[in-house]
Amino acid sequence: MRPTTPYRPLDITIPFPELRACARTATLLHPRRGTPTAADSSVGGPLLWPADEAWPVCGEAYGRARGVRPERARRYERIVEAAWARPRPADADHVPYTDAERAELDEMTCSGYQPDRHDGSPLPLLALAQFHVRDVPDLAVFAPPGTDLLQVLWCPFRGHDDASPDDYGPSTRLLWRRAADVREVLTDQPEPPVVERKEFLPNPCVLFPEQVVEYPFADRLPGELVERIDAWEGALRERAGDAAPGYQYDLSLAPGWKIGGWDSWHRTDLMRVYCGACGTEMRLLLTIDSGGGGRSWLSYEEAQDVWDPTRPPDLYGPTGISAARDEYRAFVCPADPSHPHRMSSQ
Ligand SMILES: [Zn+2]
Ligand SMILES: [Zn+2]
Repeated sequence: MRPTTPYRPLDITIPFPELRACARTATLLHPRRGTPTAADSSVGGPLLWPADEAWPVCGEAYGRARGVRPERARRYERIVEAAWARPRPADADHVPYTDAERAELDEMTCSGYQPDRHDGSPLPLLALAQFHVRDVPDLAVFAPPGTDLLQVLWCPFRGHDDASPDDYGPSTRLLWRRAADVREVLTDQPEPPVVERKEFLPNPCVLFPEQVVEYPFADRLPGELVERIDAWEGALRERAGDAAPGYQYDLSLAPGWKIGGWDSWHRTDLMRVYCGACGTEMRLLLTIDSGGGGRSWLSYEEAQDVWDPTRPPDLYGPTGISAARDEYRAFVCPADPSHPHRMSSQ
């Protein structure tokens, strides 16, 4: 079933028509486990990468890099999923692992576990995602002339960052290309032999893009408007109790992986992101979401999944990615797309 975001509980532009002027569309990506091909928009799928083009590597010294091998992380995942899918009594309070599975999981997670080491050679970047303009309506305004495909790779270690020295997360690389230029696709695409955390390793997901309308984070609005919104929320809460929708979590900013839209600063206050090359205020391009977020935005099938007893809970959503507490975001320069992007987290 195609995931669809429920209608907002109410239209915020009816009590506050001035918000219409700052409405912005975002494309929610709705990643779901699947088997994307290099031709598809995806998270964690193969990239449409030319066979004759070198795969990017991280230039940092890896002598002391420790983490987890991707195949080990995937093996862990398979064991957990198989155990959850096994029939068990409705009142069982344990997932029915076999003794062998329990021993293998303990070996991977207990304190005696030795992290995997890497030999220190340059690490191939990890393919995180790719998005075609044809699939993601809000991508077109960002695409430099002559391009229609955005590819996102990252180094699966923190603290190697070139794009955002002020933010401590995986170092991302954004690459635009024209899909039609890729004649022969690189097979056996490289993968780093070790990642710092398994939450930096995406599960392959296909996308179900859906456009929604967003309104700015309150700090971007005039103070007197925010005061009126606060008063309106207070009055609504008095009538409807805790179920009353709120501006921040129900009516303005959508949670989840998305392209475009407005940036949320719910963990901090607004911290405008400026281009390091020209000083222009940058614009939100990509939000990498760690799961959670306002429940009113959950599609019907997501709300069901929460209660599916045959599947382990997707702690960080279907992608398995968590690079920040809530969101890890790429901002780009609206004045010149060749200026380096910056990352920011919430
Ligand atoms: Zn690196
Ligand atoms: Zn700039």
